[in-house]
Amino acid sequence: MNVLITGGAGYIGSHVVKQLLETTAYKVTVVDNLSTGSRKTLDTLRAIGDFKFIDLDLKEFDKVAELFTKSSFDTVIHFAASIVVPESVQNPLKYYMNNTVNTTNLINCAVQNGVKKFIFSSTAAVYGEPQEIPVLGLDEKFAVEPINPYGMSKLMSERVLQDTAKAHKDFKYVIFRYFNVAGADIHYENDTLLPRIGQSFPNATHLIKIASECALGKRDKMAIFGDDFNTTDGTGVRDYIHVDDLAEAHIKAVKYLKENDSDIFNIGYGKGYSVKEVIETMKKVTSNDFQVETAPRRAGDPAALISDNRKIKKKMGWIPRYEDLGLICKSAYEWEKKL
Ligand code: UDP
Repeated sequence: MNVLITGGAGYIGSHVVKQLLETTAYKVTVVDNLSTGSRKTLDTLRAIGDFKFIDLDLKEFDKVAELFTKSSFDTVIHFAASIVVPESVQNPLKYYMNNTVNTTNLINCAVQNGVKKFIFSSTAAVYGEPQEIPVLGLDEKFAVEPINPYGMSKLMSERVLQDTAKAHKDFKYVIFRYFNVAGADIHYENDTLLPRIGQSFPNATHLIKIASECALGKRDKMAIFGDDFNTTDGTGVRDYIHVDDLAEAHIKAVKYLKENDSDIFNIGYGKGYSVKEVIETMKKVTSNDFQVETAPRRAGDPAALISDNRKIKKKMGWIPRYEDLGLICKSAYEWEKKL
């Protein structure tokens, strides 16, 4: 099995590369333009196992085409993308070019060169701002109505994949709609949690990353964006999933497509935590207090996003291992210490 991972030096991609190296005998090729991914991460991964790295931007269509004709990939796992929602509102064309156009070209190269399986990172942002969350969370049939160019750029790529797979019977896909991915490599040395890889890109906007920076004193304080939502404590509720559980689903997807048809899967734990609960958990597991202020809501933030994960559990046999919010926070914090 010859697997191409785009964005393999990035946060989620690197955790998938790690698991491929640790648990499979697949031949792994990583392409990354290192815009947000890091060389240090690649060096760490090299200590785990052998893979090929190509410094390449997916907008270089000629080079991407050449890569596909020279290699015979069986599977593509596609992570490389721009992912910052507010930036997508200010600079939509960056998102449509980098996400939708480059993904379409990648799919085209895959089909032209006989690649049979394509695993795609999509997002819960395709669901936009659900007004009511069903008791069991959002399932894959929930209406898709992205409210920002980031979500739309991913939804459009989903559509390209679906139409392509309909027309090319040998080509199959798995689309994962990620909920809130957090935490870092669960790796212990002498019973101490010591993540080897994690979220490296600075200026992150994600809650758990920001809370871990506060716990470490890298920031003086943080803000809760809105405490007047229609939720139990008024703050936003999200379904936080540990990056290693998410990564494992990708390994399962490669095997799943050997015997099953293309499909879309939501991936989260099916349980929501409020911003206040996350902050309290971070303080507790790190034994560090920090200052928290209330600020206005962030534009476009839905009150709650929780997945219904019954489909992925049933059809793929995915069993989450790191559902403990404390472990998610602790691993993010231990990783943040190393940066
Ligand atoms: N949030 C917050 N303060 C922060 C960062 C995030 O209150 O400094 C809230 C945000 O409004 C949302 C939740 O935390 O309700 C998760 O936000 P994040 O940016 O991590 O992920 P998103 O759900 O926006 O993709």
